[in-house]
Amino acid sequence: MFVSDCLGVNEHGHLTIGGRDTIELAQRYGTPLYVMDENEIRRACASYKGSIERYYGGHGLVTYASKAFCCKAICKIAMEEGLGLDVVSIGELYTAKSVGFPMDKVFFHGNNKTPQELLAALEYEVGQIVVDNLVELEQLNQLAASQKKTANILFRVKPGVEAHTHKFIRTGQIDSKFGLALEGGEAMRAVLEAIKMPNIHLKGLHCHIGSQIFDIEPFQESAAVMLRFLADIKKETGKELEILDLGGGFGIKYLEEHDPVEYDQYMKKVSQTVGAVCQELGLNTPFIVIEPGRSIVGPAGITLYTVGAVKEIPNVRTYASVDGGMCDNPRYILYQSEYEALVANKASQPRSEKITLAGKCCESGDLIGEGMMIQPVQSGDIVAVLATGAYNYSMSSNYNRIPRPPVVMLRDGEDRVVVKAETLEDLIRNDLL
Ligand SMILES: *Cc1c(COP(=O)(O)O)cnc(C)c1O
Repeated sequence: MFVSDCLGVNEHGHLTIGGRDTIELAQRYGTPLYVMDENEIRRACASYKGSIERYYGGHGLVTYASKAFCCKAICKIAMEEGLGLDVVSIGELYTAKSVGFPMDKVFFHGNNKTPQELLAALEYEVGQIVVDNLVELEQLNQLAASQKKTANILFRVKPGVEAHTHKFIRTGQIDSKFGLALEGGEAMRAVLEAIKMPNIHLKGLHCHIGSQIFDIEPFQESAAVMLRFLADIKKETGKELEILDLGGGFGIKYLEEHDPVEYDQYMKKVSQTVGAVCQELGLNTPFIVIEPGRSIVGPAGITLYTVGAVKEIPNVRTYASVDGGMCDNPRYILYQSEYEALVANKASQPRSEKITLAGKCCESGDLIGEGMMIQPVQSGDIVAVLATGAYNYSMSSNYNRIPRPPVVMLRDGEDRVVVKAETLEDLIRNDLL
C-alpha cells in the first residue's frame, strides 16, 4: 500500500512510521520535521551485506554513500552494521572521523578535491582515495611525499555505459565531469603514471554510472567493461589490481508504480557477470565494493509539513502550501523529482484530490510536486511526503533564511533527535557587521 515498508496507518486513521503516529510526532517536535526509521535503515544495510556474503563469499564491502544523508548518527549506524563509508568532502570526512569511523573502510570520492582535503585524507589515513584525474594524481603524489606517506588509490573510470536516468544524475558516459575515459587511452595513461609514482599505491578501479537506476543490465555491462580494463592493465603492466568498486545508484520506490529491482537480484546477476567475465579473462575475482546511498536511507525517511494556505484556481489547479519547501527538499526544483504525499491525519481516506504541493520559498519553482493525488486537504492538516530519507536533509539550505528542520530517528519505535532544529541564532552565528 505504501512506498516503504516502515509506513502504515493506525486505528485513528493516522499515518505511522516505524509504528509511531506521525501526528503525535508532528505535535511533539513541530513541523517541518524529518522522521527516519532506523530499523529500516539497518535492514537495508544488513541486506546488502548479506548479498556480499552470499555472492562474493564475503570478499567485498558495502560502503554507504554518506552524501545521501550525512550526520553523526547515520555514520555510527553504518559503522555498527559493518559497512564502509563513501565521503566526497572534508565535511563528510570530518563527520565520519567524529564518531570514530574506521578510516581503512573510508573511500574519498570527488572530481575536484582541494589540497586541504587531500591532506586531511592523508593525515586521517583514509583507506582509499578515489582519484578522478591526472591533476589530482600529481598533486596527491606530491602531498603524500611531503607527509612521507603512501596514498592508497583507486581510479574513477567512465565505463561509457548509458544508464537510463535523469541527465543530472547520469555519470558513466564520456561527457561527464567525473572520471577518466577508457576511450583514447586516458585511463590507461593514468594507470601507467600512477604505477611509476613513489608515493602512490594503485589498488583498484572505481565506476559509478548514475543514480535512481531501475535496470540491472547497465550494472552488468559496466562490471564487464571494468573487468576488461583490469585485464588490459594486467597485460600491459603485469599487475592484477585487487579492488573493483562498482558504485551505487540502485533505484528506490518514490511512486507506487515504481518497480525497483530487488537489491539482492541485482547483486546476484552482477556477481554472475563478474564470475563469468573473470573466468573468460583469466582474472581472480577482485574485492568487490558497492556503494548504495539512496537505497539505504531513502525509503526510511518522510517529511512532515503543516498545510497553510490552500488556493483553488478554478480550471487551473489547486495549490496547497506547506511550511517548508525547496529549503528542506530541493529535488523538485533540481530535477522535477516525484514523490507520493498524503494527508497524515486522513491517511485511511481515499486520495481523491489532485493538487500542487508548494513550498514557502520565494520561487515559483519551489514545489514538492505537481499533479499529486492526495486526500482532501485543508489548512492545518499535516502532510507527509514519503521516501525523503535521501538527498533531502543533505541537500537542504537556508534559502530565505529558513532554519533547517530537525531529524528525528526512530529505533524500535523509540524517538530521539539526531540532528537538532536550527535556531534563529544559528542563522546569524557567522554574520559580522
Ligand atoms: C552518489 C554516489 C553514490 C550513491 O548513489 P545512490 O544513487 O545514492 O546509491 C555512490 N558512489 C558514488 C561515487 C557517488 O557519487
